[in-house]
Amino acid sequence: RKERYAGLRDKPAVTRDGVGVDLQINAGLLVDLPHLDEAGAQGIGLFRTELQFMIASTMPRANDQQKLYEAVFEAAHGKPVTFRTLDVGGDKVLPYLTKVAEENPALGYRAVRLSLDRPALIRTQLRALMKAAAGRDLRFMVPMIADAYELHAVREIVDLELAHLSRFGYEPPRRLLFGAMLEVPSLLFQLDDIMPHLDFVSVGSNDLFQFFYAVDRGNPRVANRFSDLSSSFLKALKSIADAGKRHDVPVTVCGEMAGRPIAAMALLAIGFRSMSMAPPSLGPVKEMILSLDVEAVRELVEACLSEQDPASDLSPVLARFAKAQ
Ligand code: PEP
Ligand code: MG
Repeated sequence: RKERYAGLRDKPAVTRDGVGVDLQINAGLLVDLPHLDEAGAQGIGLFRTELQFMIASTMPRANDQQKLYEAVFEAAHGKPVTFRTLDVGGDKVLPYLTKVAEENPALGYRAVRLSLDRPALIRTQLRALMKAAAGRDLRFMVPMIADAYELHAVREIVDLELAHLSRFGYEPPRRLLFGAMLEVPSLLFQLDDIMPHLDFVSVGSNDLFQFFYAVDRGNPRVANRFSDLSSSFLKALKSIADAGKRHDVPVTVCGEMAGRPIAAMALLAIGFRSMSMAPPSLGPVKEMILSLDVEAVRELVEACLSEQDPASDLSPVLARFAKAQ
């Protein structure tokens, strides 16, 4: 099987009806970087910067952060990398950051909330990212955005750091591409407000699903009660793909569902053309893409989504379709 996928490595991911799909990998540590070429990915769609913080016993110093980001740029040799700013709290605990007990950590003091309250953290990180990027494009995105004002607040911090860079004579990034992770359902109702301020959006379907159905992603007794291929969740996702088209803002899915061939098929059906996934998923997803007729699956899914009685799980329908392909 592994060899079969290796044979696909240099094949472009294009469907039978000629739709090109951008396939990228998720990464977070130096050891992940060789996967970029091995998998034949077009870039790193999600670089989880918090992993460096999670495996350390003390806060990584600015210089160590910068070194890691430089190594990532080197390994990517020109392919795009999307860095996610620190996503700690919730399921991602830093033992050395004073942790206040919370009744609902997933809904608690985490990610961008922490960054805005303790700006030294994100300022140090942004500075390290900008210095590492020097002369190259810097793509970064902010996790757990729940309201447009948070984006504007982060943007102000970014501008402060850019000013700092030029004051001290460092070479700035060639271009700054500013994105948001869409993983809190409140943003579904602010799409037209946030899109004009963003260079790209990345759907964190793991958290979006968790908050959409109010099911703890780490607790299979509740997480498996609902499907991410339900009509309602697919409609939510489709509204994001549609908004991206309306505003001409590129949209990617970087949650785990993008790495399941049947779910990736559904994502293509509702309009996504870019996905980022764990490296071992890239082969199976590409294999699905090469044999797919997107127009046919689009019609199928569209019909399902417009039914009176919404399906709580489209998986069986999609699996049957995949078999018949
Ligand atoms: C997500 O929430 O879908 C995501 C990609 O981020 P993480 O899994 O790291 O929370
Ligand atoms: Mg997330």
